Amino acid sequence: MIDFELEPQVVNQLKMYHLAAAQLMRPISREFDEREHSEPRAFWEAMWTASQNLGEPADAKPRAGEGASRLRNLNTCLSVEELCWGDAGLFLSIPGGGLGGAAVAAAGTAEQRERFLRRFREGQPKWGAMAITEPGCGSDSAAITTTATRDGDHWVINGTKIFCTAGQMAAEKSEGFVVVWATVDRQAGRAGIKPFVVEHHTPGMTVVRVENKLGIRASDTAMIVFENCRVPADHLLGSAEVKRDGGFKDVMATFDATRPIVAAMAIGVGRAALDFVRDFLAQNNIPVRYGISPRRLTALERDFMEMEVQLKAARLLTWRAAWMLDMGKRNNLEASMAKAKAGKAVTQITQKAVELLGPVGYSRKELVEKWMRDAKINDIFEGTQQINLMIVARRILDYSSRELN
Ligand SMILES: Cc1cc2nc3c(=O)[nH]c(=O)nc-3n(C[C@H](O)[C@H](O)[C@H](O)COP(=O)(O)OP(=O)(O)OC[C@H]3O[C@@H](n4cnc5c(N)ncnc54)[C@H](O)[C@@H]3O)c2cc1C
Repeated sequence: MIDFELEPQVVNQLKMYHLAAAQLMRPISREFDEREHSEPRAFWEAMWTASQNLGEPADAKPRAGEGASRLRNLNTCLSVEELCWGDAGLFLSIPGGGLGGAAVAAAGTAEQRERFLRRFREGQPKWGAMAITEPGCGSDSAAITTTATRDGDHWVINGTKIFCTAGQMAAEKSEGFVVVWATVDRQAGRAGIKPFVVEHHTPGMTVVRVENKLGIRASDTAMIVFENCRVPADHLLGSAEVKRDGGFKDVMATFDATRPIVAAMAIGVGRAALDFVRDFLAQNNIPVRYGISPRRLTALERDFMEMEVQLKAARLLTWRAAWMLDMGKRNNLEASMAKAKAGKAVTQITQKAVELLGPVGYSRKELVEKWMRDAKINDIFEGTQQINLMIVARRILDYSSRELN
């Protein structure tokens, strides 16, 4: 059973994250949205120092309650919601293992986890990134064309990756790494795809572009070209063996861990918009009446309650998916449910917030229009809305990816 009572240590850390969100993120939110590609160095230093002091683990962004609790993934979701209530773009820009760290944690051996993630506990701020998407392949990761060819004690990587979150920071501007998904055997399809750790400044890895985006503009999104990029053989995460039956499952385990986190990001943004609307209504003496017949509710009251319901439903699905992972249960279905629900909910909630607030919602004086822009990405990365719904359908109806695609 899920226990909804949080440990006192987790509660305290969440309060700290809320303070960071309110006092470190919100004041610079607009500035780094307007100044895309500029680097919030002072903010990074503050968050890096805070995570060092907390003894935070290496494989993700700051998280609450680590060490005190076996609910590591659930606690991560709680802290991610808090920080994304502050600013989702800035959250994604915080130094840490990020998606690259999550991939190492999910697909790497114990020795690789220690070797590659240790760095995030010490020294200067650094970033991890994960590069799957290519110009010709996004949702259909089996179509990856980037190759890794064995040459003695090395793998040689060739290909182009696009839309890599924190790619520039990981590849060029810190002592981080990029986890690159490449095929070692094109004939084997999905089973031939393996993740490789490519260290910062490895010759042959070049950031050729950073994107201008609709939302999460404080987060760098890079196009990276790999040209005869050589990495040591033991930088392939997990086993090099191409298991034609289910070999891809190890790699997909990364998504089972990261989808609840993205869902939590969405919930943080949605909560920011909902809180703003609630405060606005209170300041303008517009009541939201609970506990009366639905027939007597105003349209605004109905809308507001619907926003609350959608957010809570998404949050409960997210907690369940994270909790199952903590319990060592397979959460592939629940992770996709949470991600699909939260992505859709936050898109609708933030749009509704802009609508209900009218000019205040649309104005750049407030952050509501920004949250609407920041929300949409949660419906796109780590599997789009449609792809996650398809995974849910496959799992419920017991279809294989070949039977339902
Ligand atoms: C800001 C940002 C950051 C990102 N960060 C990363 C990152 O760090 N690492 C990384 O590897 N990638 C990253 N991505 C890429 C992201 O994961 C992909 O954009 C996403 O997986 C969709 O792939 P695509 O863009 O190629 O779209 P496509 O796969 O071409 O899909 C286009 C549309 O078709 C729909 N569609 C596709 N196939 C089906 C189907 N079978 N049934 C129904 N509908 C379908 C999709 O849902 C979508 O609506 C990022 C993208 C953005 C915008």
